[in-house]
Amino acid sequence: MDLRDVLIVGGGPAGLIAGAEAAKSRADVLIVEEDPEIGEPDHCAGFVSAKGLEKVIEPSQNFVLGWIRGARIFSPAGKAYEVMAEETKACVIDRVKFDKELLRKAEACGAEVVTGRAYTSGLEAKVLVDAEGSKGRLAKSLGFEVPKSIPAAQMDLEVADFDRDIVELQTGECAPGFFAWKVPRGDHVRVGLACYRGVPLDLLKSMLEKNSNFNLKNAKIIRQLFGKVVIGGPLRRTVRGNAMVIGDAGGFVKPTTGGGVVMGGLTAKLAGAAAAEAALNRAPLSAFEKAWKSKYGSDFRTMKLATRIFRNMKADELEHALKVSHEAGILGLLAGYDLDLQGAAVNRVLESRLIRFAMLPFLRSLF
Ligand SMILES: Cc1cc2nc3c(=O)[nH]c(=O)nc-3n(C[C@H](O)[C@H](O)[C@H](O)COP(=O)(O)OP(=O)(O)OC[C@H]3O[C@@H](n4cnc5c(N)ncnc54)[C@H](O)[C@@H]3O)c2cc1C
Repeated sequence: MDLRDVLIVGGGPAGLIAGAEAAKSRADVLIVEEDPEIGEPDHCAGFVSAKGLEKVIEPSQNFVLGWIRGARIFSPAGKAYEVMAEETKACVIDRVKFDKELLRKAEACGAEVVTGRAYTSGLEAKVLVDAEGSKGRLAKSLGFEVPKSIPAAQMDLEVADFDRDIVELQTGECAPGFFAWKVPRGDHVRVGLACYRGVPLDLLKSMLEKNSNFNLKNAKIIRQLFGKVVIGGPLRRTVRGNAMVIGDAGGFVKPTTGGGVVMGGLTAKLAGAAAAEAALNRAPLSAFEKAWKSKYGSDFRTMKLATRIFRNMKADELEHALKVSHEAGILGLLAGYDLDLQGAAVNRVLESRLIRFAMLPFLRSLF
């Protein structure tokens, strides 16, 4: 039997980044991807922080669709607040091209990638890395929990006019418990939402019909996309025996925004290094869990708390909190904080007089 050092199930960003890292340490790595093409089908809005992206892979015109200067946040009642950074802090990537770039990198490091092949139990390895995304089929069979997720729908739209360097977010009942987004992608926009209640596609269609604040008048639908946004933060246990869960499968997604490319990528690097050490030098695989908890555990916990408060805010509470934070200059300040490790930004809000807006939703979340 062909016994590999490291077998990675799933050729998304997490699997490919972990595979590259393990292969760099000279482990014999096999990545299996059940879809015939890496990166497809695409289900991601592609919004990532510029600094985070640099830590994962060198940004390239090959997959960066545009650079983002700031965000326009609409309150539930439709009031617009702009958060603009002094320097470019984010960009939008084409996930199909981005994933293919990660594939090239993983192969260049020595990992073998096989597409069109689903994981079957006959495949053997010293270390098994579950990078299957939010599906959770393999995770369950290995005894891991499955991270919480909520459904999302997106549409690529041709619209006459849009800001090419600003993302827009709409809060409130259009996307209960979460938010809707509009992301510029070169010659078109990707509009989407995820929600705790309701059917995302119905809510999205209703936004289009109402010609919401996103100004989607006469928009022409190019395509529809669906997916699950992972929201609960990392699982408590991400290592069991000789197996580990990474990326969406391990819950390595910012609970505040559902963005998992950067945090999933950074933690996948730790996973790849630990997998190689375990396979080649019999080091304990638990080194992965120790490493991500010590580097990122506190930020994940704080982001989770912020999400819990936001999710339990009533529309009028959110309306008021946005108004006060804007008037107190706090919204503006947030542009200066790290977009990925958001613990410091959340703490800044909670230390301010805005804390009083958090109390009631937090108490509500307990019941
Ligand atoms: C609507 C939506 C919008 C999003 N927008 C953003 C965003 O703007 N910015 C951001 O950072 N993140 C965003 N995300 C999150 C981001 O897409 C994920 O966090 C990221 O793709 C996770 O990478 P992954 O490698 O863990 O999983 P995936 O990208 O899901 O890859 C998992 C791979 O494993 C394969 N697989 C599954 N089971 C098997 C098996 N048994 N055998 C072999 N292969 C298997 C799948 O085919 C898949 O290719 C969004 C998510 C959604 C749903």
